[in-house]
Amino acid sequence: MDYLSARHIVTLNLEHLALMQEDSTYREILESADLIIPDGESIVILEFLTKLFDTSSIDMEVQLTKYAGIDLACELIARIPKIVFWGAKLEVNTKLRDFVAKTSSAVIDESFYFQHGFYYENEEAALVEKINLEKPDLFLVALGNPRQDLFINKYKDKFPETTFIGVGGSFDIWSGSLKRAPEFIIKAKLEWLFRIIQEPHRISSLLKSLTSIFCKALL
Ligand code: UDP
Repeated sequence: MDYLSARHIVTLNLEHLALMQEDSTYREILESADLIIPDGESIVILEFLTKLFDTSSIDMEVQLTKYAGIDLACELIARIPKIVFWGAKLEVNTKLRDFVAKTSSAVIDESFYFQHGFYYENEEAALVEKINLEKPDLFLVALGNPRQDLFINKYKDKFPETTFIGVGGSFDIWSGSLKRAPEFIIKAKLEWLFRIIQEPHRISSLLKSLTSIFCKALL
């Protein structure tokens, strides 16, 4: 599939689903995305449970598999020029230069644009105006949920030929600030557990999202 033909790609996880239940505008924005990929095993499990309990609405032949947003973004960085890296802390965003130098053969200053994600809300539009890449191919947004998809929805029409992806904590991993789970943990479908061990504060938002989704399903 040619991912670059999509304008807004959502990398769906449990937090997105819980937020969609609480906020109808956010729900509409995600539902209007051109492509939604299952970023976590939780989405695959939920889809399986949905099939089990509601066989009428979903094609039983289709088997969903996880495709992490970070893997999709890596694949695209390696093969396309002109990319905006928007978000994360200043020191994290600065270190992305080393990562792209290893991943892409493009000349950094001509092909990439970097902006950290800790600015005031009222500075945002002017910062977007400063982007000096003509027609970027890809705009990676790492601002966390729900902000990154709201950002994409707000600015995607300014860049009509660009593919936008919300990539969550990918910049932290590429910069070396956080570690990605080793391959055997990913294969064991335990990447989520590795992430929680590394960032224990995530347990509360995970539990909140799970509670919200299951309460809604039971009602
Ligand atoms: N982030 C940002 N600006 C903010 C808040 C978060 O650039 O105001 C970045 C953060 O540094 C990280 C990414 O967004 O690189 C994802 O953040 P987090 O992991 O907190 O989001 P979540 O995945 O929990 O939604």
